[in-house]
Amino acid sequence: MSAAINEQLIREVVEEVLGRLGPVQAGATASAAKPEGHGPKPTYAAAGGKFGVFQEAGPACEAAAASFAKLQQGGMAARRKAVHIVKTLAEANAAEWGRIELDETKIGRLDHKIEKLQIIKDVPGVEWLRPDGRSGDHGIMLEEYTPFGVIGAITPSTHSIPTLSGNIVNIVAAGNAVVFNAHPAASRCAALAIRAYNQAIARETGIENLCCIIEHPTLDSFKALCADERIRLLCVTGGPGVVKAAMQSGKRAVCAGPGNPPVLVDDTACLKRAARAIIQGAAYDNNLLCIGEKEVFVLDHVADKLMTEMESNGAVRLNPAQLERLTKAAFVFKEGHGGGCPEPVVNKDFIGKDPSVLGQAAGVNVADKTQLLFAETQADHPFVVEEQMMPFLPVVRVRSVEEGIAAALAAEHNYKHTSMIHSHDVEHMTAMARALDTTLFIKNGPCMAGLGLGGEGYLSYSIATPTGEGVTNPRTFTRVRRCVMVDNLRIY
Ligand code: NAD
Repeated sequence: MSAAINEQLIREVVEEVLGRLGPVQAGATASAAKPEGHGPKPTYAAAGGKFGVFQEAGPACEAAAASFAKLQQGGMAARRKAVHIVKTLAEANAAEWGRIELDETKIGRLDHKIEKLQIIKDVPGVEWLRPDGRSGDHGIMLEEYTPFGVIGAITPSTHSIPTLSGNIVNIVAAGNAVVFNAHPAASRCAALAIRAYNQAIARETGIENLCCIIEHPTLDSFKALCADERIRLLCVTGGPGVVKAAMQSGKRAVCAGPGNPPVLVDDTACLKRAARAIIQGAAYDNNLLCIGEKEVFVLDHVADKLMTEMESNGAVRLNPAQLERLTKAAFVFKEGHGGGCPEPVVNKDFIGKDPSVLGQAAGVNVADKTQLLFAETQADHPFVVEEQMMPFLPVVRVRSVEEGIAAALAAEHNYKHTSMIHSHDVEHMTAMARALDTTLFIKNGPCMAGLGLGGEGYLSYSIATPTGEGVTNPRTFTRVRRCVMVDNLRIY
């Protein structure tokens, strides 16, 4: 039995005992958050579940609905306390939870798993719900952002606790409760965080199951969650399969779908800065970010210089033979429909793995500190076409900016997710922005600048692309209600 599973079992037993004893502080996880004020003493009892962790969708939705009613009674103060707890606990437990998530999923990098939790504090909260008021000859009008009730949320394996935590901040700030169906390969760490959040929230507000989770998620529990009448809205973060399933569920869904972000580099760009930004974005968490740089198109006459700058900044270039070996390992080639050409499918064993693992498959020894591998490819190479989520970047030469934009458009598959340009020519920027029309378009920076990390903006781990809500925030999870008073209220 692995150390992580062992630790999890011990933790569950301790929590079981603590739960029977009543509300006491359960170690560092709970003691880290100390918002002001104390609510009534919770009992921690809910039908079939404890601290937000349930076996089935129905009881989880029931408990979340009861918690939503309590949250309404608690007002803005209760929302603020809950959001503060989630932000504080995510930061206080970042090192431990980051390690636990990496142990469970075996994808990504520990330093970035930790960082992704430390920055949950940057996710917008209650302060985003500013009402809009008008007054005129006929009286006054107030439009307010009000909650839906219970939200059903689906989280990915690539950032399980970060997505779950960021979703809770947004959803609860907006006044809702939430039930999660996490990715099965990242569900133990998700349940661990949910327990800790609910313990602390219950202690501080008396609300026991504000954020719930189905402990062993399956496709059936996803269907049960979607079908439950108490779920008013879905928030889905994942690939094409789950987006399609959510859109077919009959419920309104905010879908944060897949991407395959292209980068265009022209001859007006600062190539040193471009190389650094590309490495920073593509290497982050071994390229698991949906916004991460996945392929580069560069003008032919500056391509060599860009690649030399990438090497100078620590990326390792593969030669054609090494690229071929890596491609054969990183993709499985399945027969196409109707006897067509074999189609590449990403080999899951290589998703989010370290550059040294990819290097081994390519037949090259790379230093442990290497962040990224790259090689020159054609525009139709599987590494360009597929959302590969590996710390390897294909670099494609193009003869003109027009050709580069057309190739970037094809590689992005009309997901309308994220794209990047390195250029100082405003015409080129505008042409690419118009052609790709992506939700995030970053100029002269790494992908994360698009989420307020080194650029202006704010953070969310759910960027709603096919359904159009954009970078999710508390307002995404609200209804707009108008209240009007008809009277002679103007005083001047
Ligand atoms: P995934 O699609 O395999 O899984 C995502 C979630 O959907 C999981 O909870 C999974 O259990 C569930 N799921 C998958 N197929 C389903 C189906 N047919 N019916 C019901 N549920 C289903 O994705 P992943 O590997 O965990 O995450 C990576 C993907 O998510 C990438 O495509 C990435 O671009 C995308 N992503 C998007 C965003 C965004 O903000 N737009 C953020 C993170 C990840």
